[in-house]
Amino acid sequence: MTSFHPVDVLRTSPGPKRPRRLRRTAALRDLVRETSLDPADLVYPVFVVPGEGVRNSVSSMPGVDQISVDHVAAEARELAALGVKAVLLFGIPSAKDASGAEAHAEDGVVQNAIRALEEASPELVVMTDVCMCEYTDHGHCGLLDADGHVLNDETLEVLGRIAVSHAEAGADVVAPSGMIDGMVGAIRGALDAEGLHGVAILSYAVKYASAFYGPFREAAEGAPVFGDRRSHQMDPGNAREALREVALDVEEGADALMVKPALGYLDVVRSVRERFPELPLAAYNVSGEFAMVKAAAANGWLDEQAAVLEVLTGIRRAGADLVVTYHAKDAAAWLQSGR
Ligand SMILES: [Zn+2]
Repeated sequence: MTSFHPVDVLRTSPGPKRPRRLRRTAALRDLVRETSLDPADLVYPVFVVPGEGVRNSVSSMPGVDQISVDHVAAEARELAALGVKAVLLFGIPSAKDASGAEAHAEDGVVQNAIRALEEASPELVVMTDVCMCEYTDHGHCGLLDADGHVLNDETLEVLGRIAVSHAEAGADVVAPSGMIDGMVGAIRGALDAEGLHGVAILSYAVKYASAFYGPFREAAEGAPVFGDRRSHQMDPGNAREALREVALDVEEGADALMVKPALGYLDVVRSVRERFPELPLAAYNVSGEFAMVKAAAANGWLDEQAAVLEVLTGIRRAGADLVVTYHAKDAAAWLQSGR
């Protein structure tokens, strides 16, 4: 009996059986890399607060600050120098009330920040978060009924007003994030009624009720005072339902789509990419995902640069065109310096 050894197969069989050939040098690896990561793929979230000369660090998000409008121009210049082409704006109002009135005030904190950004850097793409939760005293994403439930259709009218106020201040893209049924159609209708046809809608079409939003709620000061958001955000166990949500938003006129969070939902990113290949897709690498990497790196448990670039590449590989991420500035600087 002759003994069989696997090495004999490698020696005698022709054919592409040694994938390591293409990993031999850095140049070969660059040549065959399937997924690219570029500063222009990244969107940087910015939190704007009232006042002047304000810069508050967010303790659970090292390196992320809440800034007042007078700091916004410098932020825009820094991002431009790094090759990051878009921001996603969140506002923390000076006063909150039950109806979130400051969300659509002409001189609200976000509206002022949009004007400051457009003036400082006209080519920067200014995206704005459109929701009520940072502006309501109860911290919920819409108007409430007497029992504390979010009213759907009454909230749509307010979302339309918020989007119009952002567009009139100069926003390029409005991004409704509240998972209120019909929000994309209502906002498209409100924008078009004001002749704002050129303003695009990036819909948070698939947003899960996630535990990974914790640090964001410190940054945006938008935690619900009672209850949670499970009556409108999606159940983490559901993937097919995500396709239904996306189909509705596409039908209502969304120009681009978002899945949030990213890391626990890469299968959803992939299936949205495959089912709706014609629309740009963003994924939100959320605050809890950011905080995990930062905390591990601060403890010396992870190489931050390598881990961040791997995470962002993974989100792109799953199918996202854009990644909204708090790592944007660091990642862009690393990418610029050639790693
Ligand atoms: Zn909200």
